[in-house]
This record gives sequence, structure tokens and C-alpha cells, in this order.
Amino acid sequence: MFVNSNRLTDLLPFFHKKLDRLYGERECRNIFLLICDYRFGLSKPQVFSGDYRLTESELLEINSMVKRLAKNEPIQHILGETEFYGQSIFVGPEVLIPRPETEELVDWIQKENQDQNQLRILDVGTGSGCIAIALKSIFKSKAEVVAVDISSDALEMAQKSALKNSCEIDFKRLDVLNDSLEILGEFDIIVSNPPYIPEADRTLMNSNVLDFEPEMALFVSNEDPLIFYQTIAKKALNQLSPQGKLYYEIHEDFGRQMVEMMELVGYSDITLLKDLQGKDRMLRASSKP
Ligand code: GLN
Repeated sequence: MFVNSNRLTDLLPFFHKKLDRLYGERECRNIFLLICDYRFGLSKPQVFSGDYRLTESELLEINSMVKRLAKNEPIQHILGETEFYGQSIFVGPEVLIPRPETEELVDWIQKENQDQNQLRILDVGTGSGCIAIALKSIFKSKAEVVAVDISSDALEMAQKSALKNSCEIDFKRLDVLNDSLEILGEFDIIVSNPPYIPEADRTLMNSNVLDFEPEMALFVSNEDPLIFYQTIAKKALNQLSPQGKLYYEIHEDFGRQMVEMMELVGYSDITLLKDLQGKDRMLRASSKP
């Protein structure tokens, strides 16, 4: 055996030995605790005060998880799920792992629309479904949520997550660059976190993203990095209700260009919001003149 004790706490030194170099001591400990939580249902105090002992097959499972982590595979893929805005979201190679900054976008939408009685919401490029599911869990029966994506695999996974969180969402396959949004009807809120990383940024990115996450959810050409935003903005103009608002997660370097583009397309009341890192990360605009 790779360890000479089957006590859960005795595995922590093994994690540090194998993974500290790659993840650092703190992150390594967090990953260990995350596994204890998801895999064995143990909270941090339970892990350290308890005397949980693993069976041989559980030990082997942990060993294989450590091997995958050592190859830079995201812990979210290994566990098969992650948490987003308090909801459990299934993840895998077919979808982007929900990012914390996207929770800030959901938070903004929640704050600005909590007084509404009835909302039709559209999430374009839903991927894991995290935004749609979080918004449905916030607005509940007040909201009718439609979510579209080009990838059937992503939609299948998002649907599973929606069911798990008891969220009724209307998922549809749609290629927003080529298909019309007209059949979907009118919306009070249209939200999107489309692919926005220019190919040129690839060299700055870590292998845990590049080797394991879907390229189609991340990258755009260097020549036309706002292609999704511009296309969605134009199509959304015809689908937004008179008080309708469009919300975007954006690339931190494109705040100014985004505002200019949105003005040109015909939006008003365009506001940029920074994320907790102080970077331009979100934009909201109104369809009314
Ligand atoms: N924020 C994500 C990242 O940095 C990218 C999300 C996107 O392209 N929509 O990996």
C-alpha cells in the first residue's frame, strides 16, 4: 500500500508529499478537505477530531485521485461536481468549470431585479448551466428561465444539474452566432458569459485550464474578440422587453471597447462593474433608448 495507515488524517501528509510542489501547502490542504467533504461527507472538524478509517478500495480511490491531481486535472473534474452560488453543479470536460467571478455577475442581477414580480430570463451559452440554475434558485417561481447552448453535451450535463437542484429550466440547443433568438420570445433579462479569451492569451494560461477545459467555451479569435458580445447584443435588442436589460461577463481588458460597441449597437444606461480583483468584469445595458 502507498500509506501504512488507513486513518483519513494520516493521508494528509501523503497529499502534501505528492502535491505541495504543484499546488502549494494551503491549496493542497483545501483539496484534501474538499475530497473529505464530497467523498465521505465529513466536515473539517469531523476530519480532524474523528477517527475515520478507509477501506482498501477507498484508499485506492484516493490514490488514483492524487495521481490525477498530480497531472494537473482540476479537482472539480475528479469530484464530478462543484458548488456555484450554493447550488451543486455537475462538471466535466464538456463544460467550463464555474468561476467565482461569475457568482458576482449573478449577485448583481439578483440585487438589481429583486423587486420584480415576473421575469423571463435567457442565458446564452449556458455551459454547465450555473448562471441559469443560480438565477432560478434566487427568483424561484417569479422567473421563467430559458438557457441555450451550441453543445448538446453541455446541455445534457446542465439539465442533470438543474434536476439535482430542483430547478425548472427550459434548455434548448441553439448556435447564437448563426441562429435567430426570435423563436424564444421576449425577455426581461438576457445574460451571457460567452467565450472571450483571445487566442493570443493562451500562452498566459495554466495547463489545468488548457488541457482539461473545453476550448469552444473559452477562446475567440484575436481579430474579432467581441464577436459573441456584438452578435448577442444585436439579436437581444429585438428580444428584450421595454424595461429589458442585458448582462455580460467580460474580459478584463475589453471594458472600454465593450461600452463603445454597446453604444453603437443602440444600448443605453451602459454600466461596467469591477470584480473583487478590481478588474472590469461585468457589463449591464438597457435596451430602451
Ligand atoms: N473567466 C474564464 C477564465 O478565465 C473565462 C470565461 C469565458 O471565456 N467565458 O478561464
